[in-house]
Amino acid sequence: MAVERTFSIIKPDATKRNLTGAVNQKIEAAGLRIIGQKRIKMSKAQAEGFYGVHKERPFFGSLVSFMTSGPVVVQVLQGENAVAKYREVMGATDPAKADAGTIRKEFAESIEANSVHGSDSAENAKIEIEFFFKPEEIVD
Ligand code: ATP
Ligand code: MG
Repeated sequence: MAVERTFSIIKPDATKRNLTGAVNQKIEAAGLRIIGQKRIKMSKAQAEGFYGVHKERPFFGSLVSFMTSGPVVVQVLQGENAVAKYREVMGATDPAKADAGTIRKEFAESIEANSVHGSDSAENAKIEIEFFFKPEEIVD
């Protein structure tokens, strides 16, 4: 597997509890390098656009209001097999189903307030990175 990039968000439930460093420690311990990072307040339009694939789901409105409820940290991660590796480090969407040692098992509050996002494919990673980052904000 070649070196690739993935997109990550440390969600409002995690920033609120001062877990940015704890999440980053798990990312770096897994061999992923944080090559872009900024703390932002997501706008409603950004959250609706970012989660557009879920707009017909019953939890969409709640998800958008959660993602805009406080600061998030958006990140670009780089490493071998980064997309799949980061999803392993995050654990299952529902923290009750996440493996021991994963970010969601240790930190998530609920299936919605589940502390982190990670891209589900290299194609989506590229789209998501371009949605939040200018090229010069990524330094590898
Ligand atoms: P993410 O896309 O955030 O990395 P994921 O790929 O594990 O997570 P998705 O199915 O893409 O999960 O859902 C996107 C996000 O929507 C979840 O991370 C979670 O915050 C929220 N979500 C998913 N399912 C539910 C649900 N049943 N109830 C409430 N919120 C949900
Ligand atoms: Mg997803």
